[in-house]
Order: sequence, then C-alpha cells, then structure tokens
Amino acid sequence: MIITPKVRGFICTNAHPEGCAANVREQIEYIKQQPAIEDGPKNVLVIGASTGYGLASRITSAFGCGAKTLGVFFEKPATERRTGSAGWYNSAAFHEEAKAAGLYAKSINGDAFSNEMKQKVIDTIKADLGKVDLVVYSLASPRRQDPETGTLYSSVLKPIGKDYTEKSLNTDTMEVSDVTIEKASEEEIANTIKVMGGEDWELWINALSEAGVLADNCKTAAYTYIGEKITWPIYGHATIGKAKEDLDRAAKAINETLSSVNGQANVAVLKALVTQSSSAIPIMPLYISILYKIMKEENTHEGCIEQLYRLFTEGLYTNSPRLDDVNRFRMDEKELRPETQAKVDVLWPQVTAENLFELTDYKSYNAEFMKLFGFGLDGIDYEKEVDPVVTVDFLE
Ligand code: NAD
Repeated sequence: MIITPKVRGFICTNAHPEGCAANVREQIEYIKQQPAIEDGPKNVLVIGASTGYGLASRITSAFGCGAKTLGVFFEKPATERRTGSAGWYNSAAFHEEAKAAGLYAKSINGDAFSNEMKQKVIDTIKADLGKVDLVVYSLASPRRQDPETGTLYSSVLKPIGKDYTEKSLNTDTMEVSDVTIEKASEEEIANTIKVMGGEDWELWINALSEAGVLADNCKTAAYTYIGEKITWPIYGHATIGKAKEDLDRAAKAINETLSSVNGQANVAVLKALVTQSSSAIPIMPLYISILYKIMKEENTHEGCIEQLYRLFTEGLYTNSPRLDDVNRFRMDEKELRPETQAKVDVLWPQVTAENLFELTDYKSYNAEFMKLFGFGLDGIDYEKEVDPVVTVDFLE
C-alpha cells in the first residue's frame, strides 16, 4: 500500500508505519543525548502510552532511566485495507527499539477505564515486574464507560456560564473566523469530569495498592494544562478545566492511599503542544501556532519529549522540584512567562487567513500535526509501497 495522509478536519484517519517509527526513534535519540537521569524509576506503568505525552513518558523512562515499561493504550491494528492507528505503529516501534536495547517492554491494548484492564495490568506486574515504582496517568479520551454501572459518559469542550465567541482557525478550509461555542449544561460539566477528571486515576492507584504491586516510594503523576487568559474560556475555566481541577482533588486522596508505601502523587502541568487531543480543541491550533512562533524566537520551544525530560529531571526525580501552591509540578513556566504571553496578546487580534503564515508558525503546527501520524519525516520514502500490517504481540 502507498500511504498518503487522509486528513479530515482535526484528525488524520490513517498513519504511516515507517514514519511513526522514525518519529519514535527521533524521541529516543533526543533522550539518549541528554545527561542520564539520576535515581530514576526502575519499573514503570504508563496509562495512555502510545502517543503524545504518554509515549514521551515511556521513552524517557526506558531510554533515560533504563526502566522496564508496561504500557496501556487503546489503538487499532491495521487490516489489509486500512492502516493501523499512529499509536499502534508508535508502540510497535517502541517495542522494537526497547528489545534492541535489551529493555523489557510489554503493552496491553484495550480500555483503561475497565476493571478487566486493571486486573490484566496487575497480573502482568505480578508475573513480570513484582512492583512498579512510577505510574504515569496520561489518558485523553472523549468517552468513559463507568466500570461499575456500565453507563457511558461523553466529555465536551465547552465554556461554562456563558456562550463564548472567539476567533479560531479552521484547519480544513484555512479560514480564520469567529466561532461561537455554546455554554455547557450542568450535566455536560459533570460528564466531562467523569471522563477526564481524577476518578479513574484514583481507581487505578487503589487497585494497584490493594494488589500490593506499588513499590516503596512509588510515584504517580497525571497531566494537566492550565494556560493563560486567551485559552481560559475554552480550557482552564471551561468543562475540561473543571475536569482537570478534579485531578487536584484526586491527587490529595491518592497521596493518602500512597502513604502506606511512602509514595507521592502529583499533577504535572505541561505546556500546550500539538497532539491528537489538543488539535480537537477549538482555539488551540491558532494559539499553538502563535505560541510556537514566539517560543522559537525566544529559544524556549519544546515538544513532548523535551517537556518529559524536564518533568523527570526538574520534577519527579530531583530533591528541589518546581512545585506550585497546590503541589503541582510546573513545566509550563516558559509558556506562561509574562513576556511570552504579552507577545501572544499582541499577535492574537492581528491574525487573519491572509497573514497566518507570516504572523504565526502555522507551518510548524501543521508539520507537527502530520508528524503525529508519521507523515513528513526525513528519510522516509512516501512513494514506496509499505505493508500496513505491523504485528506485535501486544497483550489483548
Ligand atoms: P494523546 O491523544 O496523544 O494520548 C492519549 C493516550 O490515551 C493514547 O495513548 C491513547 O491510546 C490513550 N487512550 C485514550 N483512551 C483510552 C482508553 N479508553 N483506554 C486506554 N487508553 C486510552 O493525548 P495527550 O495530548 O498526550 O494527552 C495526555 C494527557 O496530557 C492528557 O491528560 C492531557 O490533558 C494532558 N495535556 C496535554 C497537553 C497538550 O497540549 N496536548 C498539555 C498539557 C497536558
């Protein structure tokens, strides 16, 4: 099959296996070039390990700390006619690289919200690792089925209190125009908290703790975004922001659970960047395109892997972590510098479809978006026939 990108709105419905593998290798290479991470974790569980921040967490654990990694994700394998999902190919490539480096890696593909998945993970930890000393919670999902009641909840990306009108970039038509997003109902707010809040993180840690598979001094982190005033109406102060606030509540509860193993739970605040999830959020593609331009000019630009290396070295595994007043690791300090945000504020009202490429770094935004699906990487011959079926013995 010759695989060319099929972009529909804010998603790309196919992926290139060799391009995804190259993307994973690039991140591994970055980590290998950094100074080794001292006193890092040995046995790591990453929930949401196949793309974005979770994949970067897994790569940092394995190639920065030499850790054994167990990954959980929800990805699609290829068929003869359809390519697999990017996360499938990323994970296949990660497995290959881990094997070549002599590093244990196993992955379980399925619904992380289910009780069955938690049990499979516990069984695998008991059989292979004994205990884990780091649990990364990096899920981003539009839906969650409650494992006890079977009810399916859907999250929404909506403002709270009043409708919100702001300029947005339509990445399909390349138009920059005002969009109005209707305010969320109380039920939609509650459902979004149910999907993207801290409940499932807590269920994971409770299950792992009860099964006795958390090592002494075990750490756990879940990821959030806070942002600044341009994105607050659609993120920080919106339905997703409410769900993320619930992570702070969960972190406190988890810290109590972890006290028996002298463990530690933190929310980590990461910067805005292009992932499959962030590209679905209105306003974000334009905000990120502006931010990329400014942060590149300031020489502070970072992707997932750079953020994760800093989270390990400046948050999780240092004696002097940068914590805020609610005990969150702050890795978003460069994005939130007042000078940086002031420049965003200046550019934001000026951007139009005509000057998009001049005033923003949409070019990089788009290139990074395509890269998420394995397209546009150096050294890959996209004209060549490739077999989309990449088999890996992920545990099902
Ligand atoms: P992503 O879409 O790249 O990754 C999501 C991961 O979750 C994938 O591995 C996917 O397979 C997995 N997943 C989704 N539903 C699942 C399910 N039911 N069962 C098992 N696995 C499932 O997303 P991302 O942007 O890397 O986001 C990860 C976390 O980081 C989220 O909590 C997000 O809010 C946070 N975050 C993102 C940004 C950003 O700008 N992208 C910024 C700060 C924080």
